Amino acid sequence: MLNKESEEKIRIYFIRKNLINIITVLTLITVSLIAVISNNNLFVYIVSFFLLVFVLSISAFMVSQTEKRFRDVEAGYIHYFFDSLSYLIFFIPFLLSSFIINSGDHNFVLRAIYIDVFLLLILVIALWNPFLSVWKRRSLPLQEQKLLSQIFELSKKLNVTITGVRVINWKQVKIANAFQTGLKSYYIFISNFLYENLSYDENLAVIAHEMIHASKNHLRKILTLEEGIFFIVINIFLLAPTFSDSIITQLFLIVIALSILFIGISLFLPFLRRKYEREADVYGAEFTSADALIHALIKIGNLNLAPLSTSKLWNFSHPDINTRVKYLNSLKKGEA
Ligand SMILES: [Zn+2]
Repeated sequence: MLNKESEEKIRIYFIRKNLINIITVLTLITVSLIAVISNNNLFVYIVSFFLLVFVLSISAFMVSQTEKRFRDVEAGYIHYFFDSLSYLIFFIPFLLSSFIINSGDHNFVLRAIYIDVFLLLILVIALWNPFLSVWKRRSLPLQEQKLLSQIFELSKKLNVTITGVRVINWKQVKIANAFQTGLKSYYIFISNFLYENLSYDENLAVIAHEMIHASKNHLRKILTLEEGIFFIVINIFLLAPTFSDSIITQLFLIVIALSILFIGISLFLPFLRRKYEREADVYGAEFTSADALIHALIKIGNLNLAPLSTSKLWNFSHPDINTRVKYLNSLKKGEA
């Protein structure tokens, strides 16, 4: 059981990290919006670029201070600065689209086609995963033969091709995590900070969880739906003027587009992500052990200094650990 002091520490760490994240995203959105409405003013673009770099530097500094103070990580500021560049993934498409929209071509349909091709390209890049080569360079193949042969056996049962199981070096950043990536065949990654802290059965249960994600194509479905929502919303925006000359109708269409965006991104996708996590937990545990997965989840929580229970509002991707432990326990009793 955790004592009061460490519970408090976890709570403050959690709030701090989320606040930094929210403030960074909101500031980046504001800066990007200013660039968008500037109507291709080069000076505003340059100022926005420096503002983006400035915001990311401050954000990275606050994250690195928080990580040092609460989790005593070894990684320095530079690591967190490069990490913060991943925020740009959301804003570069946004800025490029605005550039196309503002670029003087007044044929609405043609403009929409440009942006649709561009969105499709982003989806292809996301599915192909540009980070894979980086992760491969930072990792080594799993050496434990017995574990590997059990993973191979499970992959046959699940009818999923596993190209490699790799242990990625995240000791300096102290991240305890596992994930999978691929289209037809999959790589499973587990961080050494997690792998070395789990028992044999716990590692197997965590890897089985990732293999269920792979066998059910969870990641591909989420990425495609996410992109699909943006596709619909952006097209309604771009084509609204061609549907009708009436301002009321155009406004109505824009309200519909914004509602789809809000419901899709903040309600539907998080719901689907949590559903997929539960599926991976439950099926993974059926093939391995619910107890081992429960122990692994609690260790992951401790290693990452994650709270056992959090509101759904804070948790877009996973059910909290208490919820997961609860349904895994009911699985043991044959209730789930
Ligand atoms: Zn998962």
